[in-house]
Amino acid sequence: MISMFLDPYKCIPLDVVDHVSKVDLKAYQEKGFKTLLIDVDNTLIPYDDRALKPWHEAFRKEIDTYGFNVILVSNNAQAKIEEFSNAFKAPFIHRAQKPSRRGFRRALKMVNANISETIVIGDQLMTDVYGANRLGVKSILVRPIRSKTEKWYTKLTRRLETQMLKKVKIINPEMYEKIMTVHRG
Ligand SMILES: [Mg+2]
Repeated sequence: MISMFLDPYKCIPLDVVDHVSKVDLKAYQEKGFKTLLIDVDNTLIPYDDRALKPWHEAFRKEIDTYGFNVILVSNNAQAKIEEFSNAFKAPFIHRAQKPSRRGFRRALKMVNANISETIVIGDQLMTDVYGANRLGVKSILVRPIRSKTEKWYTKLTRRLETQMLKKVKIINPEMYEKIMTVHRG
């Protein structure tokens, strides 16, 4: 099992929320955060509906209100995220290969961001949170939007996630409970 080799401490997010739009941007701005690296699939849009919705526009406006830089960082192909990124008015990194640090590093470079002032937001423990922690970036785990339409490879990652969560339960039972109720409940 690959999970034997992975560090459960790198699976601990800063917080867990049930929807990306519920992230308290005001609070994070006050703490000195300046840049958001946001996952696309199942964090901002489901696989089967790629259209920009009114809540996206409201959330995008809120990002501007608090002065954040925003970059979409996706493991998906350019063709799958370009249209949404344009509509959301945010630059993107495609085929980021999360949990590799490379895509995140490229995103940070785009806006000259510091690691300590950046937050990664995503729906996957094993790509978004794990990748962010590998680089030393704080992360927020969100509940996936419509997980029924997940691709086969995402389902594989989720299986790994389940194994890792057993370890998280041992090292941080409070965070485990939060992930189980807010992210997976
Ligand atoms: Mg995702």
